Amino acid sequence: MLYLILLFIFGTVIGSFLNLCIHRLPRGESIIKPRSHCPGCNRILQPWELIPIFSYLLAQGRCRYCDQPISLRYPLVELVTGLLFVVVAFRFSAFSQMVEYIFTVIFTCLLVLVFFIDLEKQVVVDNIVLGGISFGLVLNYIRGLSWPDGSGINPFISAVLGMIIGYVILYLIRAISSFILKKEAMGEGDLFIAALLGAYLGWQGMFLSLFLAFFVGGLAGVILLVFKKAKLGAYLPFGPSLVVGGLLALFFQAQIIAWYINLFSL
Ligand SMILES: [Zn+2]
Repeated sequence: MLYLILLFIFGTVIGSFLNLCIHRLPRGESIIKPRSHCPGCNRILQPWELIPIFSYLLAQGRCRYCDQPISLRYPLVELVTGLLFVVVAFRFSAFSQMVEYIFTVIFTCLLVLVFFIDLEKQVVVDNIVLGGISFGLVLNYIRGLSWPDGSGINPFISAVLGMIIGYVILYLIRAISSFILKKEAMGEGDLFIAALLGAYLGWQGMFLSLFLAFFVGGLAGVILLVFKKAKLGAYLPFGPSLVVGGLLALFFQAQIIAWYINLFSL
């Protein structure tokens, strides 16, 4: 139990760093210098103002000097990252699964970055996705090394296939829907997000992610329409839906497939 609490705290600290990346990477700024500062008054933040989640609560969501509201995204990213560090530990709890744990946690952190940067700026940062694809391929290469013969497709081959098929499918969907709608229907970055999901989750996980992403995206669209936050035909970034689809596939792939098979064998 104690190690889960420690993982959560460590995760929130990493989440704090992800917040900095979400702010700076799409602006092309360095993530090392300068030190964290208030975007309103540029005042350098003191160490006690950098405590994940708590600093936000203590300051009641405002800068103490310029009174500018601090985005709810800051505590949210810290909380979500902390929770992901814990949830992934449930999946890979044995000491021998340490490598799986580290790579999977990196994957979820990259997805957090992609999700919030796409939501705020409608861009996908190339280096994040390309770095993620490399990590995914390395993980599945390691998995493939000890893969017994005759137990299905080698994870590395599945990852390479997933990466290529994910990219190609979204390329086709984008081309066809852009042709029908006569405007850009999907960002180019979304193709790379699909490739990233394939490189980590393999071809089956990639297909499941896409399927779930369309479901999540549709649901989000309906909710936004109902609450009049969006107009019909407005551009909705598909990247965040892909991220949610990918996370659902990562954690529930086995359950969803079992449920689906059950559905047809009643
Ligand atoms: Zn300020």
